[in-house]
Order: sequence, then structure tokens, then C-alpha cells
Amino acid sequence: MIVILGGGLAGLATAWHLARRLPEVPRVVLEKEPEAGGLCRSRRRAGFTFDFTGHYLHLRDPETIAFVEELLGDELVEIERVARIHSHGAMLPFPFQANLHGLPADVVARCVLDFVEASRGDEPPRDGRMPFGAWARAVFGDAIAEAFMLPYNRKLFCREPDEITAEWVAWAVPRPSLEQVVRGALGARNEGMGYNPRFRYPRGGGIGILPQRLAERVAGDLELGAEVVSIDARERRVVLADGRVIDYERLVSTLPLPYLLQRIRGLGGCPARGTSLAEMAGRLRWTRVVELGLGVAREHVADGAHWIYFPEPEYRFYRVGFPSNVCRAMAPDGCSSLSVEFAFGDRDELPADDELLDAAREGLERAGILEPGEEIIHVDRALLDPAYVLFDEARTPVVEAAMARLAEAGIESIGRFGAWTYSYMERALIDGREAADRLAHALAER
Ligand SMILES: Cc1cc2nc3c(=O)[nH]c(=O)nc-3n(C[C@H](O)[C@H](O)[C@H](O)COP(=O)(O)OP(=O)(O)OC[C@H]3O[C@@H](n4cnc5c(N)ncnc54)[C@H](O)[C@@H]3O)c2cc1C
Repeated sequence: MIVILGGGLAGLATAWHLARRLPEVPRVVLEKEPEAGGLCRSRRRAGFTFDFTGHYLHLRDPETIAFVEELLGDELVEIERVARIHSHGAMLPFPFQANLHGLPADVVARCVLDFVEASRGDEPPRDGRMPFGAWARAVFGDAIAEAFMLPYNRKLFCREPDEITAEWVAWAVPRPSLEQVVRGALGARNEGMGYNPRFRYPRGGGIGILPQRLAERVAGDLELGAEVVSIDARERRVVLADGRVIDYERLVSTLPLPYLLQRIRGLGGCPARGTSLAEMAGRLRWTRVVELGLGVAREHVADGAHWIYFPEPEYRFYRVGFPSNVCRAMAPDGCSSLSVEFAFGDRDELPADDELLDAAREGLERAGILEPGEEIIHVDRALLDPAYVLFDEARTPVVEAAMARLAEAGIESIGRFGAWTYSYMERALIDGREAADRLAHALAER
């Protein structure tokens, strides 16, 4: 029996690929929620559909493209990104560093001059082990770093930028050429930059359609409402909240790594190893996101933007998405939807919903997105916990040590939170495929 913990994209994809590679080996996906999909679900209420904040498909891997197209067929449409940054009262196209036009003249001048200065040096190493703040200053210059990179990431990670490393971001953040920065400062638009200028999305139903279709394909292997509360790696069994015990030959976990490390017994036991798994788990940090999904009774909001970044500290949210600007079917006729994202450290106390709603309304009115006193006709709240792994100095050594211990016990820990990393839906699907490949290989060699 192969037991798969968690029925998000990574767990579902593992089951799907295992059914093809090892059809004779029984398998089960244990998912604690009443519905599969994890972070990739959608909520449908009062005619509005909200993802757990906007979830857009950036697909590059040919096998994954074919897999997703087979699952969703012509339900998928391709969309050109409309992303903005709100700074100094202006709305700039994304990315900030290549679209400075519209900022006050002295800010533009400082950004360009500091970028020129930074471009004289060698580009810092992209292995990402530098502190994020120092990395951003070295790549973009002080003024761009201080106007966007540092305040935005301070809000998202709830940490000072030099307390996190650039590991999670070095691959994804485009460094424009000097020509692009100068042209962008003078008003020529540089919109297609970055890793996701176009994306795919279902024409209706939200991103939740994707795990739903996948769950239908592995329905016989899926147990919903099955919360795993402990794992005995020596006896190879998992215990569920309802008291059931399930024996396994191999285990694939997509649960958040700190949760797994705190609940697993019988791993290692070698005193020379020093740090216990629970201690390791205690050193991993993350941020949680509270999303307020709002509905308003008009069709046009935010000039058609799909999402807007808010780096400035006077706005309490870090990003606002507009699901109905991406896909009209996400809101009822005559209405629009907004997804307001607030980040908190894993140990911070969460404010009351009313306090966040007031902060959302005040900020949206100040930015000119809501009209003063405009009625909010729908409010929906979601908590994403964990949402973003914190790449501080502890993260990578702890993850490497934990993965080695788990591998010795024949346990795969995969997916965004199983691998304890910063990754996307495509990666979760690939993780499932690769885990199935490794299992098929290992079991064939028995
Ligand atoms: C704010 C935000 C925005 C994002 N936007 C995008 C985007 O635009 N595009 C993109 O490609 N990706 C995006 N992502 C990333 C994407 O959500 C993930 O990469 C992907 O959904 C991860 O899938 P997973 O299966 O690894 O994890 P999860 O979806 O977290 O699945 C893990 C599953 O395990 C279950 N589980 C947890 N504990 C237990 C337990 N004890 N017992 C049983 N089951 C349990 C959970 O309920 C869940 O279903 C975003 C992520 C965040 C946080």
C-alpha cells in the first residue's frame, strides 16, 4: 500500500501517475478537508467565485501542459497579464523597475541614477544565499529597492528584508537592461517582462476546476475528511483523527513539513545527529495570508487590472486582485469582485475581521479603487496557513537535514509545503509525477 498524505495538486498528481506506473499496488490519498484541491480550491458563494487568492497557471513543462490540457480541454483560456503597482499615488505597469514613468520626477531620477550605479558592478550571484535586502540593492540600486522591493517584501514576509535570503526570488525577478530602465522611465511601456506575462485560466468556475477534474480521475483512491494526526515511521503506519490506523509500504507526504516533523515518530533515533525533528520543525517560519473577498455592484473596477501590488506601508494589504477582471464569470452580472490580501507571521495574532475590513475599505478608497462610501455587497474571508515559506538562514539547512532523514525512512515529502519551498501549481503537478517515477523505480528493484 502506498499512502499519500494530502489531496492538493501534488497529492492528486502522485495518485494519478502511480495508477499508470504501478497499477497493481493499492494506494490511498488521505485529505482532511471535505473537498480535494488544497490551496488550489475555489469558493463559490452568492454568485461570486473566489480562489484562495488569484491562482493563475504558468505552464512551461511540455508534459504538464499536455496533462492540464487533457484534464481541462477547451475550458482553459489564455490571458495576457495586466498587473500594476501602486506607488506615490500612481499606478505603474509591472515590473516596477522597468516602468518608472508616472512617479515624481525626483524619484524617477534617483531610481535611474542608482540603477546605473548598480549596473556598473557584477550582477550578484543568483544562488540566492545573499540577504534579500542586500541582493535587491545590488541588483536594482538603492532607490528602486527602497521604493518597491524592500517595503513590498517586508509586508509580505513580515520581516526585515535582510533577515530573509534571496533564495526564493533570485530566479524569478527580472533585471532589466539599462536601456529598458531608461525607456520605462520616459514612458515606453515594458509590460511583457518577468516569468508570467501570459497565463491560463478556466473560463468559468475558478481554478478549483483543475483539482476537481483530477480528483474525479482518482476518485477511487481518495478519502476525504481523513485527517492524519501521527505517523510511525518504524512501524510504517499512519493514525487518523478518527482513530483508524493505516499501514503503508511507502509514504508520500504533501503536508506542511513542520507539521510532519512534529508528528512523526520512529525516525532516526541516532543521538549523534543532535537536533531532534521537533527542534528542526520549530526553526521553520512562514507567513499566513488572510484574504478578504469583496463584491461591489458595478462592472468596472481598477481599470481592468488583474492585480495591483501595494508596497507602501500606509496600505495594510500587500496586494489586491480583481478576479472578475480576469474572468467575467467570477462575479454576477453587474458586479465585480476584489481579493484583498493581508500577511501575518506564523506567530502573530490575527486581527478581527472587522478591523481588516475597515483597513481594506480605507485603503481601497484612498487608492481610488472604491468610491467614498461605496457599498460592499459581499464579504468572504479565507485563511491560508501556511501561505509563504520564510527563507531565513535556518530554512535550507533544516530542510536538507529533514529530507535526508525522511528519505532514509522511505518517505517522500513533496509539494509547496512538503518541500517547504516557494513554488507554483505546475511544480506541484511535476512533484507528483516525479515522486511516482521514483516509487515505481524503487519498488521495481525490490
Ligand atoms: C497567496 C498564494 C498565491 C498563489 N498563486 C499562485 C498562482 O497564481 N499560480 C500558481 O501556479 N501557484 C500559485 N500559488 C501556489 C499554489 O497554491 C501551490 O503551489 C499549490 O497549490 C500547492 O499544492 P500542494 O498540493 O503542494 O499543497 P496544498 O494545496 O497545500 O495541499 C496540501 C493538502 O494537504 C491537506 N492536509 C494538510 N494537513 C493534513 C492532515 N493533517 N491530514 C490530511 N490532509 C492534510 C490540505 O488540506 C491540502 O489539501 C499560490 C500560493 C499562495 C499561497
